[in-house]
Amino acid sequence: MREQVYTREDTQRGPLILVNASHPLAAGSKPRLCPALPGEENVLLERHAARMLAACVRAAGGLGRIKAVSGYRSRKEQRQIWDDSLRESGEAFTRSYVARPGCSEHETGLAIDLAADAPFIDFIRPHLPRDGVYGEFRRIAPLFGWIERYPAGKESVTGIASEPWHFRYVGAPHAEIMAQRGLCLEEYLALLRGGGLRFAYRGGAVRIFRIGCGPQGVTLPLAVRFTVSGDNDGGLLLTVREESA
Ligand SMILES: [Zn+2]
Repeated sequence: MREQVYTREDTQRGPLILVNASHPLAAGSKPRLCPALPGEENVLLERHAARMLAACVRAAGGLGRIKAVSGYRSRKEQRQIWDDSLRESGEAFTRSYVARPGCSEHETGLAIDLAADAPFIDFIRPHLPRDGVYGEFRRIAPLFGWIERYPAGKESVTGIASEPWHFRYVGAPHAEIMAQRGLCLEEYLALLRGGGLRFAYRGGAVRIFRIGCGPQGVTLPLAVRFTVSGDNDGGLLLTVREESA
């Protein structure tokens, strides 16, 4: 039987990795990048996340009206933003709205700040409305694997103030499940750690669960159809399509 071996490094990559103050990103992990949206060459995202973002913005009718403000940042750039914000806006503001270098989702290439097109766009707190084409984007984003990452009401779980402009790619079907159940990423990962779940999806069903990955790694048979993402917490998250009876 063909097999695939997953190592500890694999727990640190993939669309479901948790990156926050207590889960820093491993140094030196640079994603393969491309422009976040057509015509916005200066803002980059991991390639698959970019493709799905562009498809979502296009489907919402938002091309040219929804602007990519900040996507992938190197650790050096995140440090610069942290230092600039400390100097210009003080410590309380910076701790609320800027992640420490190494602890920012922007370093994964899976996160983006979006704004309505306007003559002036606030770089740290851009404005993305909830109505019109922006509301439509928000409504369909989970179908394209994107979630609003720091919603109001989840501050005590995420440790981050509400950021209605910051979106995170987690992929399918995870974004849809999180949206349907009102879960932020921390809560979703806790659910998977607690035994996983089953989800009716595209005419079938998937099972999603976590397995721990020790120093020896994990060997999985390729006979089963599954996708894998690390959780950046020593585990692998498996999404397995159930065979119909
Ligand atoms: Zn952001």
